[in-house]
Amino acid sequence: SLTLADTLVKAARGLGDTRIVFASEADRREFTLAEVVTRGQQVACGLRALGVGPGDVVAVQMPNRPELLEAYFGIWLAGATLVPVTHIYGPGEVRHILRDSRAKLLIVPDRWRSIDFVERIGQLGDLPDLAHVVVLGEAPEGTVPWKELNAHGTVPPATHEVGADTVSAIIYTSGTTGVPKGVQHTHNTLLAELRKGDAMTGPERDTRMIPWPAGHVAGLLALCGSITAGTHTVVMDRWQPELAVALIEEYRCSLTSGTPLHVEAILDAAAATGRDISSLRSIQVGGANVTPSLIERADAAGTVVSRAYGSTEHPRSATAPLDATPQRRGRTDGRVRFGDEIRIVDETFAPVPIGEVGEIVTRGPSQFVGYRDPTHDLAAFLPGGWYRTGDVGRLDAEGYLTVTDRIKDLIIRGGENISSKEVEDILATHPRVRHVSVVAAPDPHYGEAVAAFVVLSDGAELDLDEVRALFARSGVAPQKAPTRLEVVDDLPRAPSGKVRKFELRDRLRAEAGAPATP
Ligand code: ATP
Repeated sequence: SLTLADTLVKAARGLGDTRIVFASEADRREFTLAEVVTRGQQVACGLRALGVGPGDVVAVQMPNRPELLEAYFGIWLAGATLVPVTHIYGPGEVRHILRDSRAKLLIVPDRWRSIDFVERIGQLGDLPDLAHVVVLGEAPEGTVPWKELNAHGTVPPATHEVGADTVSAIIYTSGTTGVPKGVQHTHNTLLAELRKGDAMTGPERDTRMIPWPAGHVAGLLALCGSITAGTHTVVMDRWQPELAVALIEEYRCSLTSGTPLHVEAILDAAAATGRDISSLRSIQVGGANVTPSLIERADAAGTVVSRAYGSTEHPRSATAPLDATPQRRGRTDGRVRFGDEIRIVDETFAPVPIGEVGEIVTRGPSQFVGYRDPTHDLAAFLPGGWYRTGDVGRLDAEGYLTVTDRIKDLIIRGGENISSKEVEDILATHPRVRHVSVVAAPDPHYGEAVAAFVVLSDGAELDLDEVRALFARSGVAPQKAPTRLEVVDDLPRAPSGKVRKFELRDRLRAEAGAPATP
């Protein structure tokens, strides 16, 4: 079977005219797939000249720009393992990732936050594996200029030692619940993931607008998946909603995907600028709780939105087919396709009956093969290779999944589980609530109580009485209504846009004199 390098070379031959547009407010730079693969081959030669090859790990921290793709391709063509690093991470996070992954080489641009890191690199005695730092543009002393990589020809040596089961990428989780973990994917598991998707090729080729940074798992997969599928793609140097809708109009983009924040911002920007986004035939939204209010808004705007569920460990384990009913697309998180499996299990890991809530465990061809730090593996896998997602949800009779919460985010009030997501969905229906996050607050009587943090529309106010009235109208059990409400300007978020709930919980625990989340 094939490796990513084989797949790229094959795609460059058959679908070499696939267009990849890197856009900023000021300009649009267009490349063909064939061009990018040729440049990737140059980078591969450069990496080999620096002594990097099969078995070596290369970290890349770059915003969306052509060199990012050349670096990714170059690493695979050199037979090495890629570590994409979220572009906004500072020296602390980058160091954790370099140490944990045992990276031999780091590629960074010069004018970026990581410049602090590059400057300090000489002083870091605790990265024994790091042999080189490659810098795009002005390269500080002791680093290798990027253009050095392009000076060693275009035919990288063969990499017979690399096979479909070799680790191709170590991708770090968002760190929503703690320290990011290094998730190892092989060529096989990543290719299985890249093959998922509903892109149309041939004369009606799709064009995909990618709102994510390609240093993030979703961006990496969207970009590489589009390329291997032969879909034209448009990416921005950085996420700007006004530019996103301008690009959708300009390139008549037919596909996009994003977090709930991306989709909300796209709808807002389209409404504010009057840009025509009617070319979009599908928007896939996931990665975090998608409220029914957002789906309703999208439906009202005439876009076809579907929810999807997955993790860095097992990306897109559930998606809705394009012909699924609106109810299924918008109200569930999709179903398994492409050979994946989902089971809902109880505390003893026995499957629960259809319709009942339990932990979501998954398995399938695109599932990771283990963490870089194997001490995390024990808690992650069940016999039979099932992966414990740490999420709770239920399946319906047709196999559609509804994610109800993360286990760590459930509120256990007097022994009863309350889904923070269900409470959030109700609060999100309030017209003055823009963003909401619900967490457990320590409670002397019930152990935990429901606390809501809300971001309101400009100048708006909200109090607990109104919240209670909203819950009374919604018809859910009164115990689910928050007993504590905090209006905040912003919610603490991971770079992926997900709310770091443990920060909110720790804030409440500190106030109550309780120790931080265990
Ligand atoms: P970390 O593991 O470092 O705390 P993380 O869990 O956010 O970070 P990711 O792999 O980026 O790491 O995210 C996967 C998680 O995102 C899932 O386990 C789930 O909790 C959440 N998620 C994904 N899709 C959905 C969805 N459709 N609805 C609700 N939650 C979702």
